[in-house]
Amino acid sequence: MILVAGSANLDFVVRASHIPAAGETVLGYDFQTYSGGKGANQAVACARAGNAATSMLLALGEDAFAAPIEASLSNAGVRTYIVRTRDRSTGTAFICVSAVAENAITVAPGANEILDASHLPPLHGYTHLLLQLEIPLQTVIAYARAAKMQGLTVVLNAAPAQSLPLDLLAAVDVLIVNEVELTAISGRDGDIAHRLERIDVPCVIVTLGARGCWARLAGELMMQQGFPVTPVDTTGAGDTFCGVLTAALSKGLPMAEALRMANAAGALACTRPGAQSSIPTHAELQEFMLA
Ligand code: ADP
Repeated sequence: MILVAGSANLDFVVRASHIPAAGETVLGYDFQTYSGGKGANQAVACARAGNAATSMLLALGEDAFAAPIEASLSNAGVRTYIVRTRDRSTGTAFICVSAVAENAITVAPGANEILDASHLPPLHGYTHLLLQLEIPLQTVIAYARAAKMQGLTVVLNAAPAQSLPLDLLAAVDVLIVNEVELTAISGRDGDIAHRLERIDVPCVIVTLGARGCWARLAGELMMQQGFPVTPVDTTGAGDTFCGVLTAALSKGLPMAEALRMANAAGALACTRPGAQSSIPTHAELQEFMLA
């Protein structure tokens, strides 16, 4: 059973001809809200695409933005532990997407910033803890250490990119990064294989977009080709990859198979718009992998 502890946001997306410059007002086209945040996206990916029993610890404000986030998690079959606060708004992201698919994003983390060590639920019954870096770093460290001490497998998606303290790395079993995040942790020197070797974690995985992913596990390097697709919107591909990989590991699949499944799910997520809305179901994923 998987516990995801992390961020949940409501994304406000407006499409416009171009992204406004400072002081400029642009009349946009359509407007939509989407449930997002790396934590919530990955919890949905675990439950929906990975078909794994999943719970999520999250913090929400007492405002109108909380309900759509809760509905989205519950529709995907994610059980929740919700910390509610009157002092901060629910996490939000304001996204402007231009006609050439560039975007400008402003995130107001709000309630995500109040999660602290005291909020971690009892870990009895959980086998895997999945974390990202959109809640306070000290909280991530406290959760990782508590889970490690109780024998859970700790999976960290080190996003957004930042260097990581050694006491966090010491509590992590599986580290998932993209190329930018890998550079933030292990520098630019050397090829990918050498940079993976330099990180002192039992298993490190780097996602490489259309090229798939590489993993370093107990000194062995594994490479998985990406699945060829015509991408429409790559938002959420990384989150889908992390959720499905954790789900596959929680079911005892060998790493090579878990990587292949996560790669397939990441590729499928690129063929649809949005983040949570682009995450495939388990049945869709199985069909895609057999095709
Ligand atoms: P992030 O979105 O976090 O930057 P990546 O771009 O590396 O991460 O994508 C995560 C995973 O999603 C990849 O490892 C791959 O499995 C899948 N993926 C992303 N882009 C593509 C693509 N264009 N074609 C096929 N698969 C993709």
